This record gives sequence, structure tokens and C-alpha cells, in this order.
Amino acid sequence: MALVPMKQILEEAKKKGYGVGAYNVNNMEQIQAIMAAAQETQSPVIIQASRGALKYSNFTYLGYLMKAAVIENPTIPVAMHLDHGNSLDSAKKAIDLGFSSVMIDGSLKEDGKTPSDYEYNVNVTRSVVEYAHKYGVTVEAEIGRLGGIEDGVGSGSAHITDPKEAEQFVKDTGVDALAIAIGTSHGAYKFKGAKVLAFDVLQEVRKLIDIPIVLHGASSVPKELIDAVNKYGGKMPGAEGVPMEHLQKAIQLGVQKINVDTDGRLAMTATIRKVFTETPEKFDPRDYLGPARTALQGLIASKMKAFGTAGHAGDYAPMSLEDMKKIYNK
Ligand SMILES: [Zn+2]
Repeated sequence: MALVPMKQILEEAKKKGYGVGAYNVNNMEQIQAIMAAAQETQSPVIIQASRGALKYSNFTYLGYLMKAAVIENPTIPVAMHLDHGNSLDSAKKAIDLGFSSVMIDGSLKEDGKTPSDYEYNVNVTRSVVEYAHKYGVTVEAEIGRLGGIEDGVGSGSAHITDPKEAEQFVKDTGVDALAIAIGTSHGAYKFKGAKVLAFDVLQEVRKLIDIPIVLHGASSVPKELIDAVNKYGGKMPGAEGVPMEHLQKAIQLGVQKINVDTDGRLAMTATIRKVFTETPEKFDPRDYLGPARTALQGLIASKMKAFGTAGHAGDYAPMSLEDMKKIYNK
């Protein structure tokens, strides 16, 4: 079994200067595609489930499918991560399901919509850190606020991270990884005007904190995929993401975890639309979910190569949650 705490995957990436994608999953085909890409490129991997995804799958189904990914891929370091936990309770549920990592997003209140304040964020994050570390589980938190809304999460307004506040937040909470807001946003429509990320803010944060940094809303929304969706009956005018060169620059400047959800959705949807359009007689779900899975594997493998994750699966001996517990208890 190579279920590892996310902290190890990210610390190793930080040492060697590469990025690790965290790919959102809702169902079996997505999980299989991501793991096949990890095998193909020999990459450590983070599979993450949002609260929405867990709810959609009634928690147990998705939890066990993610565990199957670990069992079927014993040589790949895998972290099972909760994306955008909103409370201590949501973190507890994920840890009960066997997750090796949780995010607590205290930049928003428990409704996942209302912007919170610094005190609130520190308090809720600290409560999750205290709980999770007892189990050797990694905690990611967020400071600043991302734009966009996805899976019902987001206030719709963005707030770029203040580097000094980030530094203080890490000291106040003891968190393992920090998501910062530098201009990316959730969803398929990321930029209204020029595509600009605040690289200066990232550099400043990197100077002030020593833990891994996380970029949310980091799909590239490739034009080919949008064109394919639209060609086969979709309607996504003006969808835009973060160009891969910008993500690679962010990795160079010290980002370790890159969250990707939208691009995977697009790859599957484009493929399924194509199958329906070209072969309308098909009605077996395997006839469209199979090709969608293959397309997603290709997309994820290309990300693993572009982020520099490829080839690093065998670099280190996987740590268990028990090992991590001992480190936290020191
Ligand atoms: Zn996010």
C-alpha cells in the first residue's frame, strides 16, 4: 500500500523543485484514468474529492473507489485528499473514510460562500490541525480568497493573499500546506481581461514561509477541448484558463501543489459529446465512459510531464500515517 500523507509528496516535490497535480474525482473512470496516467509517467499523485463529490457519491462509494486506486497501484505514492473542507466535522468525516490529507478552507465561512475574517480562519484551521495531526493526516489551509465558484464553493469575489498575513497564519496554525490567491479562480471562465498572475506576491510568500504552496483554480482550459465541446453541440463561449507556461513559472517560483478539476471535466465531456454525435446508435455507458477515460488519461499524463512530476514515483520510500504521527508528536 502506498497511501501516503500529502505532506510527504509535497515536501519531496519542494526538495526537487517540481509540481504535483491534485486531480479532482467523482467516479470510477476518473480515478482509473488518473492512476493509469500516474503509472504511465511514474508520478506520485494526489487524488482529491470535494464535499460536493463526496455527497454525490454518498461518501462511502467514492471513499472505497479511491482506496481501490491505492490498492491497485502499490508502487505509486498516492494521497487521498479532501478538497475545500468547510468545518472540523467535514475533516473528521474524511479522516474516518481513510483520507491521508484534508483541506480546511477557512477563507470562507461554513456555508462555503461568505468571506470570513482572519480570526475565524485561524480558529477553524487550528482546530482541524490539532485533530488531523493526531492521525498523521496532512492539513492544507487557504489564506486570501480565490475568485470564481465551483461545486457551490466560492464567494464570487477575489482577494489576493497578503504575504505578511500568510507568514503569520502559518505560525498561528501549524498548517502543512498553504493555498494562496494570486489571481487564479475556480471554474472554466477564469479571466475577464488580461491573464495576469501576481508572481511578485508568490515570490514574497515563498520568501516568508517554508511549507509547500498550493495553487487552486489552475486548469488551463485548453482551446482544443473547448473547441471540441462546442463542435459537438456544447455551449461554452469565452472559456479561459491559466496557460501552462504560467503554471510552470509558478512551480519554478515555489508552488508544489496544482489543483486541476475543470480540464478533466472538459476532456471527458468533449469525448462523450463526440461519441454521441458520431455514433448516435450507441447506448451502452461503457461505449462513452471508456473513451472518456482514455482521453482523461492522456490529458493527465501530459500534465504530469509538464508539471515535472513524471519519473518521481520511485524517488522515496512511502511514509505511513503512523510514521507521520511520530513526526507530529515530536
Ligand atoms: Zn479550490
